[in-house]
Amino acid sequence: MNIILVGPPGAGKGTLAERLIENKGFAHISTGQILREALANKTKVGLEAKEYMDRGELVPDEVVTRIVMEKLKEKEIQKAGFILDGFPRTINQAELLDKGLSSTSVRLDYVIYLEASEKTIIRRLSGRRICRGCGKNFNIYTMQPKKESLCDACGSELYQRDDDKEETVKNRLDVYKESTEPLIDYYRKKGILETFDGDKQIDDIYSDIMRVL
Ligand code: AMP
Repeated sequence: MNIILVGPPGAGKGTLAERLIENKGFAHISTGQILREALANKTKVGLEAKEYMDRGELVPDEVVTRIVMEKLKEKEIQKAGFILDGFPRTINQAELLDKGLSSTSVRLDYVIYLEASEKTIIRRLSGRRICRGCGKNFNIYTMQPKKESLCDACGSELYQRDDDKEETVKNRLDVYKESTEPLIDYYRKKGILETFDGDKQIDDIYSDIMRVL
């Protein structure tokens, strides 16, 4: 089964993806995480992406689509089924994805849309902390690590993403509304959209999703 996760930044896509991967064995493709890793490794793509990410803007469609299409060619990923988290983010990316997939046997089964209020989004983003080692998500308000500032899974240090700081968050939300929200209609028309209440606790969202998948 192949799934796309759509929703505003902070709606819980990353945490939900972690759950689905742990429990169902999906392959995770998070464009944000891939770009952050590329930046940490100082690759050309990572350094190019940095200026966009720092401003809370979108990295050019061609760059992210190339990254995703490369991943989707991997046999392991096709076998496991994938969760696309943070991609597509524009109609153009969605069309490029459709085009890329049309020559393969890979099909999209569901687009999971996490709808969340501004209050939830701000709380999740301002409290979010990420593991430097394995990328696992925590939240200082709602999902604290057992030991302060350390990852439960691998023990590495937790950090706050630069783009989770207040000035950038506003821009990311504007970019979401303008560029990404139109995807909801795009996938609704294709008949594969399922909407969930992202304001609920993550355990409840997960149960809601399990009833549908
Ligand atoms: P995320 O971790 O999904 O919140 O992504 C962090 C940042 O990476 C975004 O604010 C963008 O700058 C960039 N990014 C991630 N995915 C995409 C995408 N599909 N298209 C363009 N930019 C992206």
